[in-house]
Amino acid sequence: MGIAANATAVLNFDGAIGTLIGEPNKGLEAMFTFMNTARIGTAIQGVAHAELSFQGALPYAQERRSMRALSGKKEPEQVADALIWHPDVRRMLLTQKAIAEGGRAMVYGAAKIADQMFNAVTEGDQAKYKKYDDELGFYTPILKGFLTEMGLEAANLGIQVFGGHGYIGEHGMEQIARDARISTLYEGTTGIQALDLLGRKVLLNTKGKCVRDFSGTILRMAKPYALQRTPMGQMMRTLARRTAQWNVLTTLIMLRASKDREQVGSSSVDYLMYSGFVMMAYFWALQAAKAAELFASGKGKESNDFYTAKIQTAEFYFARLLPRADGHYSAALAPTSAVMQMPQELFQMA
Ligand SMILES: Cc1cc2nc3c(=O)[nH]c(=O)nc-3n(C[C@H](O)[C@H](O)[C@H](O)COP(=O)(O)OP(=O)(O)OC[C@H]3O[C@@H](n4cnc5c(N)ncnc54)[C@H](O)[C@@H]3O)c2cc1C
Repeated sequence: MGIAANATAVLNFDGAIGTLIGEPNKGLEAMFTFMNTARIGTAIQGVAHAELSFQGALPYAQERRSMRALSGKKEPEQVADALIWHPDVRRMLLTQKAIAEGGRAMVYGAAKIADQMFNAVTEGDQAKYKKYDDELGFYTPILKGFLTEMGLEAANLGIQVFGGHGYIGEHGMEQIARDARISTLYEGTTGIQALDLLGRKVLLNTKGKCVRDFSGTILRMAKPYALQRTPMGQMMRTLARRTAQWNVLTTLIMLRASKDREQVGSSSVDYLMYSGFVMMAYFWALQAAKAAELFASGKGKESNDFYTAKIQTAEFYFARLLPRADGHYSAALAPTSAVMQMPQELFQMA
């Protein structure tokens, strides 16, 4: 397809001799060891695609006029209302914004763990190093798989906000979509990230402990808000329920996988997306809580408008994006026969 300013070539090594490095059938494990930095780098591309497409779509939605708002004229002095008055356009812009800022917070969360890991090396604390290394290993496939899929969605929304003008080269939106399309493929496809997450990190290496550990972090944050009758309290309770559901999902897949060898492969991408939605919900709740605290204390470096936008974007995320986790939950637990029963020769029968 072609990415921006990047000549892509295919090289065929006909009749060449390959040399196996390492043990046979252990290649994927070895590959993941040295691919971690690249995978987080690609996750950042997902965030960048979301941010860039939002930066393109927002001014267009404020300038371009089309029809009148269904709730009545918003700009009566103009021939029509700007796109941004239409609820569906706001949905698209807020989705891009929620992905870009939520994704950025997830990447910063991972960067903090990486810093703690390197500090542990400096201190010569092996146990601490392993703890942070495991934690980063858990984040990595979620960041890579989920943020690139969501970055691609945001890039597609960039085209959609522009309507037909998005499809042509002039406004730059289609180039972002083409660039974003690669990110779900290279450095390991979403399918491979999902197998790494569910098969290796969650089931084989930790028997669900990495999810339980992350749940502990979520619940520690949510606990002080548990009884609050405020939007923040409601957000934290929703998050706590999702955390419990994440552990139930993990346990159910673990039990089924012991009887059905197709279970992990059948559930993995939905499990990864479910994990991504809950992890992003944690980072949105964290941002909203911090914004509310700084708004109330007046001690923040940013304006009150900045904090209000953070809180309202978090509310949008919880109301409109997080519910998608339900679909992934059900799909991950569907019987494996749904994907496995059809014989290969029946695939092309219309
Ligand atoms: C623009 C671009 C640049 C690239 N640059 C580089 C580079 O610089 N260096 C480099 O080494 N590589 C590079 N790649 C290669 C890239 O990393 C691979 O294309 C990518 O990892 C997918 O591997 P594959 O193409 O062999 O797909 P395949 O492994 O054939 O996968 C095809 C499909 O099957 C699925 N699949 C495969 N195996 C399984 C399984 N066991 N279980 C479930 N699903 C499975 C995949 O998820 C995918 O959907 C580049 C690719 C592109 C598109």
